[in-house]
Amino acid sequence: PPQDMSKERMLDIRQNNCNPMTMKVTYYKKPVHIHQGYMQWLWDTDGRRYLDLFAGVATVSVGHCHPKVTAAAEKQLRRLWHTTSIYMYPTVHEYTDKLAALLPDPLKVVYLVNSGSEANDLAMLMARVHTGNFDIITLRGSYHGGSPLATGLTSNSAYKFPVASGFGCHNTMCPDVFRGPWGGRHCRDSPVQTVRNCSCSQGTIMHVLCFCNCYYHCQANEMYIDQLKEMFATTVPNRIAAFFGEPIQGVGGAVQYPKNFLKETYKLVRERGGLCIADEVQTGFGRTGSHFWGFQGHGVLPDMVTMAKGIANGFPMAAVVTTQEIARSFAKGVHFNTFGGNPVACAIASSVLDTIKEDGSQHISANIGTYLLHELAKLREKYEIVGDVRGKGLMIGVEMVKNKASQEPLPPQDLGEIFEDTKDMGVLIGKGGLYGQTFRIKPPMCITKADADFFLAVFNRALQNYMERRLKP
Ligand code: PMP
Repeated sequence: PPQDMSKERMLDIRQNNCNPMTMKVTYYKKPVHIHQGYMQWLWDTDGRRYLDLFAGVATVSVGHCHPKVTAAAEKQLRRLWHTTSIYMYPTVHEYTDKLAALLPDPLKVVYLVNSGSEANDLAMLMARVHTGNFDIITLRGSYHGGSPLATGLTSNSAYKFPVASGFGCHNTMCPDVFRGPWGGRHCRDSPVQTVRNCSCSQGTIMHVLCFCNCYYHCQANEMYIDQLKEMFATTVPNRIAAFFGEPIQGVGGAVQYPKNFLKETYKLVRERGGLCIADEVQTGFGRTGSHFWGFQGHGVLPDMVTMAKGIANGFPMAAVVTTQEIARSFAKGVHFNTFGGNPVACAIASSVLDTIKEDGSQHISANIGTYLLHELAKLREKYEIVGDVRGKGLMIGVEMVKNKASQEPLPPQDLGEIFEDTKDMGVLIGKGGLYGQTFRIKPPMCITKADADFFLAVFNRALQNYMERRLKP
């Protein structure tokens, strides 16, 4: 392919003019210079092809430049770019109707915005206005955005700044069944190993793959819930505005919660007048395979759902969906958003919904995701440094450790070696977790079994290479 700009010049701009800190998150010693993409593939400026298993952080939902979605964008670009909500425009209304139909009653009122952070900011504001309360609870390790309000929800020091922000936001203990103080230890020490149809699991692959004992597992859940109760007793007033939770933590490293954790949390929050908000920015649109929305896998019904990323396959777009009752409270003031509900974004997002259905994306997530989880679990058995394999559908985390006994996170330098090697063999994956210790696999939902096998072979090789280097005298 033609090279638009020299690599040296690009690096120079990146380091000096273009949010230089993002260099930190390019991850690679030798940055990848992307030229173009098609479905699950990306090509760099040297013409090398990569299997993209990170999808711009779970954002490219149906495939890079998916022909159907691209055609919808092109058609709309020739017709109308922009209106604002001052006018009626069918594409926007058709999309809103289509999206609302995918949510259970009474979640039927859609607010269109432009990013996940903006959606969460809006949800915070609506919750405070509706309840008349101020305090908001989130889970430690969560990521809900980088805007000044949303950084208060986010609970990861890497994204925090030493300025006054996040008033009224409180982060409670995350019920991480691997690294948390109770779940993980109990799982490992459990006398009952690998419970397949665990009564605790309801099809959550986590329970199949970790050495989970239902009894201890549930007991651990109670301990995490006790932490939440202690927070209610000590940190917040008797009435709160909301609880925000990702159905599976994304940036946190595909962290899943014990069965019933969200159910019990929702109950406790509602008892204190708070709203329950599901952040589906990563888990929505079929990514978890078993359900279209992640919250459905927990058997809960939120009062608000925030969504972004996969909503428009990489085009800037996001939404908050809530109830008539909450919308009515909020209607006392005017919420205006210039780009929210942009016709091009809506045409794309509408086509994404059609494509998810036509291409069977959710089905692919369930099938290929489950296959990947089972095969990755074999690598966990094979390698001392693979501590945990977890997730649901195509929302997968592989947590790396120094060794299984200590569960100490594999140092970033070491993890980086495996990461770089995987890239050099043609596969792009992501990183996450509080200590940057977890590989994240969230491909476009169009990958095939052959792609999964290619990745598994590459990843196995990268792990083997690392172990061989480590064992060298
Ligand atoms: N919520 C979650 C769960 C996210 O993963 C992210 C982005 N990583 C956001 C919110 C913020 O989205 P955005 O970057 O579009 O503002």
